Amino acid sequence: MIEKIDEAIRQLLQNARSIVIVSHIRPDADAVGSLLGLGLPLLAAGKQVQLVLQDGLPERYAFLPGADKVARAVQSGFDTLITVDCSDLKRTGTVLADLRAPDLNIDHHATNLFFGAINLVEPEASATAYVLSRHLPDWGLPVSAESAQCLLAGILGDTIGFRTSATDSQTLRAAAALMDKGADLPMVYRQTLLSRSIPELRYWGQGLIKIQHEGALLWSALTLDDRIKAGYPENDDADLINLLSSVSGLRVVVLFIEQAPDRVKVSWRSAEGIDVSGLAFEFGGGGHAAAAGADVGGSLDEVVEKVLTKTKQLLANS
Ligand code: AMP
Ligand code: MN
Ligand code: MN
Repeated sequence: MIEKIDEAIRQLLQNARSIVIVSHIRPDADAVGSLLGLGLPLLAAGKQVQLVLQDGLPERYAFLPGADKVARAVQSGFDTLITVDCSDLKRTGTVLADLRAPDLNIDHHATNLFFGAINLVEPEASATAYVLSRHLPDWGLPVSAESAQCLLAGILGDTIGFRTSATDSQTLRAAAALMDKGADLPMVYRQTLLSRSIPELRYWGQGLIKIQHEGALLWSALTLDDRIKAGYPENDDADLINLLSSVSGLRVVVLFIEQAPDRVKVSWRSAEGIDVSGLAFEFGGGGHAAAAGADVGGSLDEVVEKVLTKTKQLLANS
C-alpha cells in the first residue's frame, strides 16, 4: 500500500516542472520545517518551487535554510500543487481559494479530510516532517544537510523536544538519521523551542494573569489588545499553551486567542485518556488526541462559553 503511494508520488514529482507547496496559517515548526524540508530537495532536483505561507515566515524560523524563499501568495503558472501539515484546505487560509484541489496532501492528523488527488496521511506519525524524512529517499530526493535541519525543526516542534505521547523510537531514529545528514540538534532545539523574545514574555504575562480553573480544567484567553500591548508580531499564542499544560494535575487545558472581534482561535491540550480532536473537529477544526485546535466564529465571550460547556461535557464523560 505505502509502496504504491510512494511510486505514485515519485512519478508525480518526477513529471512536475513547477511546484507550489503550501502549509497552514499561523505556521508552527512542523509547517515551516516540512515546507522547507520538502522544498529544498525539489529545488536541488532542478524543479521550480514556490513555498507559500499565507501568514509569512515567523521570525523565529528565519534561521532555517531556505527561509528567505517563503512567499505569502501563489503565483500562477505552476503544474503541481502540494500541501504539508494541513488536515483540511481551510488550514491553508485563502491562498488556494480559486485553485484546484492539491495533487498531493502530506499530513499526520487523524482528522485529515483526504482532499488531495494523492493523500499520504500517517496519523500515528509524530510530525509531518517525520513522514517526509522517511519517504523522501523513496521519491528519489536525497535529504541534504539543509533539508535535514528543517525536518529536524519540524519533528522537534511537534514533539516539543521528544516529549509528546506521539514520540516513538522511530521518531528518535529518524532524528538521529537527520543529525547524521548534518542537522544541528542543540542549535535547532534552542531556536525552535527555547529562544524567547521580550514581546513573547509580555504576551504570556497577559495570558497568565487571566488563568482560571475548575477542577482538572484550566483555561485562559489572549485578546487582540493583549497582543498589541505586548508588541507581539504574530497571530498565534507564542506557545503559551505548552506552558499552561505544564501545570500538574490537569486533564484539559484550553486557550482562546482572539483573532478578530468575531473570530477566536481555540487550542486544546489533554492528558492521556482524553481525546480532544473530536471536539475540535465539531467546532470546525481538527488535530490529534492530545493536541487540537479550531477557528471558531463569535465574540471571545461567546466562544469561551460555547467551548467550555462542550469541554466540560467531554471531561465529565471521560
Ligand atoms: P495548536 O493548538 O494550534 O497548536 O494546534 C494543535 C493541533 O491542532 C495541531 O496539530 C494543529 O495542526 C491542529 N489544529 C489547530 N488549529 C486547527 C484548525 N483550525 N483546523 C484544523 N486543525 C487545527
Ligand atoms: Mn502544524
Ligand atoms: Mn504537524
